[in-house]
Amino acid sequence: MTGAEETPSRNDAGAPSARGAGNGRKPRVPPAKALFVQGVLLAWLAVGCATSPFTGRRSFQLLPEAQVQELGASEYQNILEQSELTDNERLAAQVRRIGERIALAAEVALEGEGDPGRLEGYEWEFNVVESDEVNAFCLPGGKVVVYTGLLTVARDEDSLAVVMGHEIAHAIAEHGNERMSQVMAAQLGGVALDVALQDRPTEVRQLFATAFGVGATVGVLLPFSRTHEREADEIGLFLSTIAGYDPRAAAPLWERMAKVAASAPEFLSTHPDPLERAERLRELVPEALEYREKYGPELERRVRAADAQEKKQERKREKRDASLRWWPFVAAAPTSDPSVQ
Ligand SMILES: [Zn+2]
Repeated sequence: MTGAEETPSRNDAGAPSARGAGNGRKPRVPPAKALFVQGVLLAWLAVGCATSPFTGRRSFQLLPEAQVQELGASEYQNILEQSELTDNERLAAQVRRIGERIALAAEVALEGEGDPGRLEGYEWEFNVVESDEVNAFCLPGGKVVVYTGLLTVARDEDSLAVVMGHEIAHAIAEHGNERMSQVMAAQLGGVALDVALQDRPTEVRQLFATAFGVGATVGVLLPFSRTHEREADEIGLFLSTIAGYDPRAAAPLWERMAKVAASAPEFLSTHPDPLERAERLRELVPEALEYREKYGPELERRVRAADAQEKKQERKREKRDASLRWWPFVAAAPTSDPSVQ
């Protein structure tokens, strides 16, 4: 189907009767509706239905995740360009370290749970933005932002890890994809389905903006549904615990968060009862600790291996710099390319 053929059917209210009148017969099912149902079924078969990690919940996904990740990466750049990144290097490094440990926890655990392909295409990034907002998010593909305002509530590493785990969980459970799929099916109908599956970047970008609420106010994303929030709480708690952080920090953190409800829409609007949320997180602590026991040793082994590799590279750099210092002839060589020795 070409783009030119698709365009008129976008005013879908008028399309069925116009087509019905054209063939002179009275169809039992309006064609547009029939096409839509067919389209949804085909798309479901082609792209389909996914399963969330750890919880096993079946989720409704119509878009290729790679496409959603691409949009996540480009929207992330837009947000960063319009935000003030912190110049607090210590804080930025702390957030990066926590994020990298949680990302590694996800890698190890998903391998262990037989779902290693889920992180395909991920390019993790962790940035801290100066803002009073009590907020954080992770866009599809592993693009994380923490606002400095969050630190008034998440005051220590363990509670910061709980929030970051929650946000990362939204991404790896592909809640963005599911929400876009729901918007497509509920509001935009079969036309949008065609649009998405036939690679129409502008329309899919609009869908992303609608589903996430990005664009109107930079960095303020629409709250997820209650199902997604509960799932992100659970998966996030498992991930931050596997990463080595204390799961008992979660319940008091969300209780503190409840006190700043008005300024933390992502965390609260879909959780009308913060006490119930805290209670549930307390109940999940033993299971989280079991996951830590299961996957923690492998995670620590990989952290040590990465540290050793980093130190090796550092020693190599130091050695090279030292040899250059003793070789003024080379150091003063008229070249602008520092790799030329
Ligand atoms: Zn959330």
